[in-house]
Amino acid sequence: MSEKLYEVKTYYAIALDPIHVGAGSARLERVDLPIIREPGTNIPKIPGTSLSGTARAYTAMKTSRYNWKGEDGKIYSCAGRGGEGGEKHCGKVDPACPVCVPYGFSKGTYSMQGLAQFFDAQILLFAVASMVGPVWVTSPLALEGSELKGDFQVQDVGFYPLGEQLKGKEKLNFGWLMLNKGEGKGNIDLLPIPEKVKQRTVLVSDKLFSLIVNSNLEVRTSVSIDPNTGTAEEGALFTYEAIPRGTILKFDVIYNSGQFFMVGGRKLKTEGCGDVGTEWVKTQVEKGMKLFEVLGIGGMGTRGMGRLKVLNLEKGDC
Ligand SMILES: [Zn+2]
Repeated sequence: MSEKLYEVKTYYAIALDPIHVGAGSARLERVDLPIIREPGTNIPKIPGTSLSGTARAYTAMKTSRYNWKGEDGKIYSCAGRGGEGGEKHCGKVDPACPVCVPYGFSKGTYSMQGLAQFFDAQILLFAVASMVGPVWVTSPLALEGSELKGDFQVQDVGFYPLGEQLKGKEKLNFGWLMLNKGEGKGNIDLLPIPEKVKQRTVLVSDKLFSLIVNSNLEVRTSVSIDPNTGTAEEGALFTYEAIPRGTILKFDVIYNSGQFFMVGGRKLKTEGCGDVGTEWVKTQVEKGMKLFEVLGIGGMGTRGMGRLKVLNLEKGDC
């Protein structure tokens, strides 16, 4: 059993579709829909709350806790917010619910914060179409916290190829922006991401990164469908932004051990009377994360959007 009090894991993920996580609710309205941005850098991000809410729903599906009947005959739903006052969450701690314990619950008199804490997903490598095919762009700030050792440097204007395939290029053309190769340093060999992506990655300054990202976001136009008639609503065209397919994101999750927790006067125990350690929490959460690549995240999963493949899940977990 795990003796650790907590474990921090950094996840890397690739967008299989454009991803839209809107600033408002997930409901489609007749308005233009921007995506959420980091205030300081103006770079789009996926909030940790969206990741945890989605993972929660998927863990519930995987563990048959989406809608289920408890031994007391009550119907519970451990996904979502649990209704008013959280009465739909089972809140069971012995044996621990694979949804309520990792993601938290609140049931009137007793509650617990989730043992898994999700942080925002940041863009690590941004996919851009160029004259020479897809290129991934990153910057020193974007790479911070990616567990890579060594520093990253690049001239203010210009690109430095981190991957072999673009070493021979003197110029790169990103739509309206033409960049020359410049001096720099850095190495991303150790990132757990596809080799073909690494080979086509270039480093640019933080300023240029924000510019390139914001001018290459997907902007799509869509039509609102009237739910009553199933037809397009008149004048209901709207545009929305999305993080483009191929983009690599990273996010951290802290897994806390529950072995010293008491909830409602009871100790947390797993099904087989084991300790609720960091490994157990991580296993439940990763069951849900595995479905990001099938069912997607964000509010537009039904429109061929939002599938996100997490690249470094533990092996052997179905
Ligand atoms: Zn539950």
